[in-house]
Amino acid sequence: MSYTPSAEYFTGTLAATDPDIAAALFAETERQRDGVELIASENLVSRATLEALGSPMVNKTVEGYPGARYYGGAEHADRVETLAIERAKELFGAGYANVQPHSGSQANLAVFLAFLRPGDSVLSMDLAAGGHLSHGAGANISGKWLNIVHYGVDEAGFLDYEEMRRSAEESRPKLIIAGGSAYPRAVDFAAFRDAADAVGAALLVDMAHWAGLVAGGVHPDPLPYADVVTATTYKNLRGVRGGLILAARADLARRLDAAVFPGVQGSVILNAVAAKAVCLLEALQPEFRDYAHAVLANARAMAAALVERGIAVLTGGTDTPLLLVDLRPLGVTGVAASDVLEAAHLTANKNGVPGDTEPPQVTSGLRFGASAGTARGLGEADFALIGNLVADVLLAMASGDAEVAVGRARSAVADLVARYPIYR
Ligand SMILES: *Cc1c(COP(=O)(O)O)cnc(C)c1O
Repeated sequence: MSYTPSAEYFTGTLAATDPDIAAALFAETERQRDGVELIASENLVSRATLEALGSPMVNKTVEGYPGARYYGGAEHADRVETLAIERAKELFGAGYANVQPHSGSQANLAVFLAFLRPGDSVLSMDLAAGGHLSHGAGANISGKWLNIVHYGVDEAGFLDYEEMRRSAEESRPKLIIAGGSAYPRAVDFAAFRDAADAVGAALLVDMAHWAGLVAGGVHPDPLPYADVVTATTYKNLRGVRGGLILAARADLARRLDAAVFPGVQGSVILNAVAAKAVCLLEALQPEFRDYAHAVLANARAMAAALVERGIAVLTGGTDTPLLLVDLRPLGVTGVAASDVLEAAHLTANKNGVPGDTEPPQVTSGLRFGASAGTARGLGEADFALIGNLVADVLLAMASGDAEVAVGRARSAVADLVARYPIYR
């Protein structure tokens, strides 16, 4: 039996091979073009990143690390991964970087494997206060295999450092985690370092949501304080979906590398590592500092516009790309608000707020982020406008009929995004 690939196998387009998937991909690009993306965990990658992701590097399988692979033919793969590592170290002033984690959760899991044994205690931010699933939620492996203790936030939404310190002293964790998914303020890394030192714990800072601000110099740098820092590359860092592990010093390199491979992962997703290298190079350019400054200014402009309109923004503002709105004073749920905003092409996600009594599918809050809008060029006046459009819709919902407000917001969004084209 012999096999000859069809003429199209190496040359046929997606549209010719699989029109259904091609149509869905095309429609998704249009959706991104026609709306304002306010989901805090999203961004818009460069054309160069898309190209890196779609190359035949996807065919190459390697395990291990550059110079010490388990498969041959790894010369170019090594070049890609080495460049990604060097760029990550340069960008964050790190002595150690691992660019292999398939996601932020995988990066955290590897850190747990490196530092902990099943049953060990970990102190992290409560999911309900803005923490992340991978920091010990009951349904996550971290919550099932570790003894998780949480700290939370006060009534205004600010991290409760006294509670954090008290919990550390009571539970004497092996690891303390700082950072979350829906906490809008800068974290006091020195307070966490103190608490960790007082009880002999290691400190992990998870900067998934503000890694780009750290890279751009507009957010305090966790590396001098943390034993290990994890990040995602696809949120505020404006790159491919994936994770990173960093440390100021190289002394944990063997332990952390072994925890990623063979600890929690097998072969490397090399096209993703190539794309990470691209995003890290982009983040090393002076232009990225402007981007980071603009993200923060834009998030603050949107928060200020909402506050001005009487919307309950937790903590009254933000030090990060994200902001969290408490909808309880309006009598509107997170799910209803995100559905109605979606109809106006303003995409955000429902999110629990501290003390929320609604289930996770409903919630009483909304989370917004400025990373993606800023990537297409929107400025402070645009984000103030967006804040006002969101306020128009939410206030109309609270008074019972949002139809007119949604119609007006949708046409204002259409005018706005027409001025900021993407993927031309
Ligand atoms: C988004 C996020 C992650 C990673 O999520 P993945 O979906 O696994 O990439 C990890 N930690 C925090 C705090 C996050 O916000």
